[in-house]
Amino acid sequence: MDFAIDAAAPAVPDCADDGTWLACIACDETFAPFEAVRYTCDECDGLLEVRYADPPTFDEFGTGASTDGPDRGVWRYREGLPFDLGVTLPEGDTPLHRVPRIKEAVGVDALRIKHEGMNPTGSFKDRGMTVGVRVAKELGVGALACASTGNTSAALAAYGGRGGMQTLVLLPEGKVAAGKIAQASLHGARILEVDGNFDACLDIVQELAARGEAYLLNSLNPFRLEGQKTIGFEILEEFYADYGVFPDRIVLPVGNAGNTSALYKGFRELVQSGALDPDEVPKLTGVQAEGAAPMVEAVEEGNDEIRRWEEVETRATAIRIGNPVNAPKALPGIRNTGGTAVAVSDPEITAAQRHLASEGVGVEPASAASLAGLKKLRREGVVDDDERVVCLTTGHLLKDPDAAYEAGGDPEPVPNDADAVVDHLHD
Ligand SMILES: *Cc1c(COP(=O)(O)O)cnc(C)c1O
Ligand SMILES: [Zn+2]
Repeated sequence: MDFAIDAAAPAVPDCADDGTWLACIACDETFAPFEAVRYTCDECDGLLEVRYADPPTFDEFGTGASTDGPDRGVWRYREGLPFDLGVTLPEGDTPLHRVPRIKEAVGVDALRIKHEGMNPTGSFKDRGMTVGVRVAKELGVGALACASTGNTSAALAAYGGRGGMQTLVLLPEGKVAAGKIAQASLHGARILEVDGNFDACLDIVQELAARGEAYLLNSLNPFRLEGQKTIGFEILEEFYADYGVFPDRIVLPVGNAGNTSALYKGFRELVQSGALDPDEVPKLTGVQAEGAAPMVEAVEEGNDEIRRWEEVETRATAIRIGNPVNAPKALPGIRNTGGTAVAVSDPEITAAQRHLASEGVGVEPASAASLAGLKKLRREGVVDDDERVVCLTTGHLLKDPDAAYEAGGDPEPVPNDADAVVDHLHD
């Protein structure tokens, strides 16, 4: 194999607080974690990562034994998180659905769907927010902000409200699904609609954060990714409980590449602690929409950096992103696990959304990209028929009712009369 996971646990710097610190992934500079508000490296502006003196072993990880504890979800993995409990609704502990008919159609040895749409606000963003809002409390900030394609704004509004903080969200005008705006609005966020795409919103909110207007809770914030890495822990444990092995591959949609980065980080920590063998780490496989695929471009061309796409378009609005900020963390994740990245068309996404729905799993378009990507990689022979695969579905069907209507069948008007209804059915 020409890829490798670094199994060496990091040396503990003087700035560590209770065994936790921040490190720059570009220049290795380290920082105290909760002393000051900081999103990127002071020295080189590189991405920061949370590090721990003791990577988590999670007693008997993967044997199922550790699922017997009193807590469920994200905070069950507190050993691998910066706090013991966060601002919680609670989040995580999502189902790993069996989809036997889809598995047959795709032609793989095992296929499970990790449905993150079953979180409190209907997306995996809740896992990041429960940690991120806890950190905001530690830092003593009173106002939170994010740029969002929708789901981050819904989660920020709910968790910020729960934490008693003010929330501000910047959204690309006309490009956010109805369910998501409704959530952000009702949970009490102040909503600003920007005449630009998500990447423009993120540029602005980063500037607002730099000027001290609010604490930034996009996935650029390294603490968000700590919560999200628990998706990987749950997948491994739930899968192992059923199959006695870990999955060969995890296929997931990519927007800002936060999840790709978070899962890779979680797996690295398990390797460092000895809870997971390096060759047991699943191949991280990212899927983007053809109209917004800078990560796929970088992987295909073997580039270490992504080229920002100024124009992006896809029906899967949650991944309508041209400048994935976590690419420097995610690209090594894809490469070092032996994974890949693939782009799918909007019709392929809609077909996969229908396919999942036909087996009872209701997801929003971006989520269905994972299954669409797996199907394409099977057709291309990149994924073998003997592989055991988990597809991550990131958001709930009800997030984007318009897309669901378009993908589903139309209601049929009938007269208010039983005979007429029977006639209509037999027409
Ligand atoms: C945020 C989001 C994504 C993108 O996730 P990243 O971690 O930014 O790559 C995908 N799908 C849904 C439904 C989302 O809300
Ligand atoms: Zn740096």
